[in-house]
Amino acid sequence: MFRKKIILFVVSLAFISCKSPSEFTGYSYDPPGVTNTEGRKVTPQKRRIIGAGIPRVWVTNEFEGGRASDFYQINSNTYEVLINAENYPINNSPWYAFSIWSDTLQAINLRIRYTDGQHRYMPKIHHQKGLMAYSHVITNAVFDSTDGTATFGMYVDKTPSRISGHLLEGTRYSDLETQLARYKKSFINVAKAGESNQGRTIYQITVDATDTPKEKGVLVLLSRQHPPEISGYRTYQSFFEAILADTPLAREFRKYFVVHAFPMVNPDGVVNGYWRHNAKGVDLNRDWKYFNQPETRAIRDALLPLVGDETQRVYYAIDFHSTNENIFYPILEEIETRPDNLTQRWMSVLFTEFPGLNFRSEEFETNSPISKNWIFNTFGADALTFEVHDELSSNLTQKLGARAAQSLMELLIAEWKLTNEQE
Ligand SMILES: [Zn+2]
Repeated sequence: MFRKKIILFVVSLAFISCKSPSEFTGYSYDPPGVTNTEGRKVTPQKRRIIGAGIPRVWVTNEFEGGRASDFYQINSNTYEVLINAENYPINNSPWYAFSIWSDTLQAINLRIRYTDGQHRYMPKIHHQKGLMAYSHVITNAVFDSTDGTATFGMYVDKTPSRISGHLLEGTRYSDLETQLARYKKSFINVAKAGESNQGRTIYQITVDATDTPKEKGVLVLLSRQHPPEISGYRTYQSFFEAILADTPLAREFRKYFVVHAFPMVNPDGVVNGYWRHNAKGVDLNRDWKYFNQPETRAIRDALLPLVGDETQRVYYAIDFHSTNENIFYPILEEIETRPDNLTQRWMSVLFTEFPGLNFRSEEFETNSPISKNWIFNTFGADALTFEVHDELSSNLTQKLGARAAQSLMELLIAEWKLTNEQE
């Protein structure tokens, strides 16, 4: 018995020491230096139209979210677009978006090449002729793993086709401003939390229809810290719409919960077609301890008044991203949050409903300077980094976002009742 106790003691010590918070030096996929958030030089992108070959083929990046650094002919019918990041080193999120056309109808091979990057996002084509518009995924692009390029064949004519890592429709900063102007519901308030480095508004949408003499719950939503992570953003959009819906569930949720949404944390990155950083060359999701950047400071300052507010309590926060799989990054189960293990309970509902998405979960300590950990360290609440597969279709992001919101609202209502209706 005694020996058993000693073994248990030693085992638990080892357990504690390997789980204890240590200095954060970056995730496995972080290149060296990106955890320093003081600011690094960004190379501005030249906005221009570039022509190559005879008959001429033209490429331009002159639109919101555009990114193309150079364009040239390789041989008779092969052309190449070169894509540079805003600065280096940088995580491999090579965003591209350009329009292409030709003086005469011709078939070409188009290759996309990245400086210090490997092709990641399947090309999408958007073609508009008068009122007729169509978009689709280019599924036959050939990836060359030796040089990281992708090549595909296409027809070009006088009408520009836009080629981009994701379809932009509905996901640009200007789209967000249009959507915000349309919110007419009395319980939605759109405010300016602060300004980005380049002076763009960081929007805060507050949903407050609470009707309870008890303590109000608070849910915080973040998205678009990383500009190209559009499937995560589309999931956020459907999630948020489900919270606004005129359904018995959403109405009950809004009685007890206030929602603060910050849909576009990095507007400069979105407008400038950046791969990952803000206009100071910084990964914003490494700045939630230092607050060197105005974007993270704006959100911190918008939420900090909740710390001393006895009428409200933060229950949960979600930061929407995308990566090469569907994955949840929760807080380690053995770390006590308030409410505790909400993410684990939510996962078991949601993952079962979407077996085809092969969702995984990987838990982390709370020492890294990311938004989720700031929420936990500031409010003691549970929080999640919600990662959606890069190529999840908009049909699926819509279903996932809506069901994610419904199942979470059910759990949060139950938590709220447990806390407020026990006495
Ligand atoms: Zn991300």
